[in-house]
Amino acid sequence: MKYWLFLMAKFVIAGAVFAGVWWGMAALLPEPEAIRTFKPRKFGQDLTWTTAYFAYFLLGAGTIYLIILDQRYRCRTCLSRLRMPVLSGAWDKMLRIGTPQVEYICPYGHGTLNIKLVHFNGSEKPDWREHEDIWRELESLTPGSQK
Ligand SMILES: [Zn+2]
Repeated sequence: MKYWLFLMAKFVIAGAVFAGVWWGMAALLPEPEAIRTFKPRKFGQDLTWTTAYFAYFLLGAGTIYLIILDQRYRCRTCLSRLRMPVLSGAWDKMLRIGTPQVEYICPYGHGTLNIKLVHFNGSEKPDWREHEDIWRELESLTPGSQK
């Protein structure tokens, strides 16, 4: 739940920033000049406004992409950035060793994100595996600590 709320908060903040940018564009850019009785529209007929629309669109699309990319590499529990990418598998020995993939881990041990680098069936969702308590897991590995 916290994970999705964080994503929504980033979208709301980006929306507020872009609303401010839109307001700034409307305040600063000149209106298209009328040619006799013909008043050109802003988009498609005025070069300044058309360029501003395209730049605004590109910035918006890039911002949405960066927000989603940032969210993808965050821990689902504590929202910290996932770290320590470990490559596994091999491109040339895919059938013997496995498909190439990158595994990221939460620095606090909440879980592991496995991203496959080969997509046979189109886009595949990243595989998030939540860990149990890592200290309990470590204690269970030491000899003599039977429950
Ligand atoms: Zn975490």
